[in-house]
Parts: sequence; structure tokens; C-alpha cells
Amino acid sequence: MVMAKAPWSDLAACRGERSHLFYSPDTAESREARLRRERQAKQLCAACPVLEECREAALAQREGYGIWGGLNEMERRALLRR
Ligand code: SF4
Repeated sequence: MVMAKAPWSDLAACRGERSHLFYSPDTAESREARLRRERQAKQLCAACPVLEECREAALAQREGYGIWGGLNEMERRALLRR
């Protein structure tokens, strides 16, 4: 899930088996399921030691999908518009 070769990626809390929480599945996802999945991902982000680095990188790279640095794509777009 983490950005390839990012120097902080070894410390990312999302490494491993829970990385599926950070992106929508290939199949349809209800609004409730999406909110639940995103809430779980954001809980991992909240305890992640590299949250700031991850968020800055995602904003700089205009990541279009997924949870990065505790923000989903809509939240990142809103932040970039400010
Ligand atoms: S802030 Fe979230 S998305 Fe970013 S590395 Fe940490 S757990 Fe992964």
C-alpha cells in the first residue's frame, strides 16, 4: 500500500495484511461498507509514525485513490483546493 521506495515506508503501519482497507474493492461497495472500511484504515493512520510524511507525499503526488495520511481522496482534494 505504501509508496514504493519512500524512505519512510518501512515504518508504515499499513504494511501487510490490512492494506486492503485502504482502497475500494474491485466489486461494488455500499456506502456503509466504505465508511466502515475507511474508518478502520484511518484508525491505523492515526497511530502511524509516518502520517505526516505519507500525507505530504500523497498531496504532492496528487494521489487519486485510497486512504493516505489519514485522508481519503475527497478529503485530499478539498485540502488541495484551499
Ligand atoms: S499514514 Fe496511513 S496510509 Fe500512510 S503510511 Fe501510515 S498507515 Fe499507511
